[in-house]
Amino acid sequence: MFPRGVVAYLKLFLTHAALAPAINQMGGREAAGSAPCFSMRCFVPEAIPPTERTRVVRESHRGIYDREAIDKILDEGFVCHVGFSVAGQPYVIPTLYARVGDAIYFHGSAASRMLRNSSQGIPVCITVTLTDGFVLARSVFNHSMNYRSVVALGKAILVDAPEEKLEALRAFTERILTGRWNDARQPNEKELKATSILRLPLTEVSAKIRIGPPEDDAPDYELPVWAGVIPLHLTPGAPIRDEKCDPAIPTPAYAAQYKR
Ligand SMILES: Cc1cc2nc3c(=O)[nH]c(=O)nc-3n(C[C@H](O)[C@H](O)[C@H](O)COP(=O)(O)OP(=O)(O)OC[C@H]3O[C@@H](n4cnc5c(N)ncnc54)[C@H](O)[C@@H]3O)c2cc1C
Repeated sequence: MFPRGVVAYLKLFLTHAALAPAINQMGGREAAGSAPCFSMRCFVPEAIPPTERTRVVRESHRGIYDREAIDKILDEGFVCHVGFSVAGQPYVIPTLYARVGDAIYFHGSAASRMLRNSSQGIPVCITVTLTDGFVLARSVFNHSMNYRSVVALGKAILVDAPEEKLEALRAFTERILTGRWNDARQPNEKELKATSILRLPLTEVSAKIRIGPPEDDAPDYELPVWAGVIPLHLTPGAPIRDEKCDPAIPTPAYAAQYKR
């Protein structure tokens, strides 16, 4: 009745509601739905058909190309890995990102190797990984992880327009700490100049999701070995005030009550 991706995502959602309530604070991430829109790129297709490059091969039933599911993963994460090749040498660099509409924005020092090369239009591969649990099977071979991940391919485009640059920077801040952008000093002209922002349109993208218990070989279910899942959660600690921060300044709610 439903496409397999939708069924998989519904299953994921229900499993997470039971296994990982802290991870599954989708409500808190709903703000992402009202993301700032840049020009006309806010049209989001319902699904991106896989290409030869993005079709998940192994465990292909875990592959998802549904945009809503992909966006939910992207909006829950905040660190991506940007892969690119320079003179035959692949580099995979971790960095912050934000999804806005149908693009991923990432940024860094204009002088960094990643930004210098990506901005010249070289092909990049951006990966986002959410780790949801260790899966302990009865055999070592069948141990696994529960995860949600996204791989996006394409050419990153350097963002020139100052308003789009500023809006992307705002998205980086607001997606992680809603309210922080207005509290903190805004970037000045010099800081804006020193920051390169790149946009990767979400045109060739896949997600892969593993959920649920271990999958053992039939005879192994008889083994007297504990099997199951150890859920993993990203848990924020209590905020630590900077020594130089005036004690009269109250801790903002987005820091004091930070949740993911
Ligand atoms: C936390 C974590 C741990 C993992 N551990 C292992 C492991 O130990 N061993 C192992 O073999 N695999 C592991 N995987 C799965 C791994 O990411 C690949 O899916 C796997 O190597 C199979 O790739 P493939 O040969 O099917 O596809 P490839 O030919 O490598 O990829 C083809 C296309 O499929 C899509 N794709 C492939 N994998 C993913 C993905 N994870 N997310 C989104 N799109 C994807 C991409 O668009 C890619 O271009 C893990 C994944 C995660 C997130």
